[in-house]
Amino acid sequence: MVHKGQCFCGAVEIEVTGEPEGMGYCHCRSCRSWSGGPVNAFSLWKPEAVKVTAGNEYLATFQKTPQSQRQYCAKCGGHLMTNHPALTLIDVFAATMESLLGASTKAFDQMSSIAKQFSDLAESNMKAASAATTKAVSATAAAAKKPAAKK
Ligand SMILES: [Zn+2]
Ligand SMILES: [Zn+2]
Repeated sequence: MVHKGQCFCGAVEIEVTGEPEGMGYCHCRSCRSWSGGPVNAFSLWKPEAVKVTAGNEYLATFQKTPQSQRQYCAKCGGHLMTNHPALTLIDVFAATMESLLGASTKAFDQMSSIAKQFSDLAESNMKAASAATTKAVSATAAAAKKPAAKK
């Protein structure tokens, strides 16, 4: 199934295809502050499932932390999605897509379990990422310590 969404003014149009990897509500401080509301309804998609179909030139990005690249319309300021590079998932704000909200009230009812899965996933991905970094750093250090081979 294809769901279409747009920013507040309509200049930027997006399209997602298939089923989201996860959906739910988040009321962490970042979501409240960025959405300007008490909760944010998120839907998570693989990057290849998300397309910007119009107004790409208006799509602006604000990045406060390496975890989240927040995308919004530079014309109206309307929020569209947040790319999470460490998770390889894009959170397309469910409120921008009428048909997704209509089709998925059931999915939203399961929000607490999915939100938990998402935070577990985020946590395990962060752990894996930091473990990989530590490994890479110690491998580099070991390589640096190795004396040059004699000729
Ligand atoms: Zn706009
Ligand atoms: Zn949040």
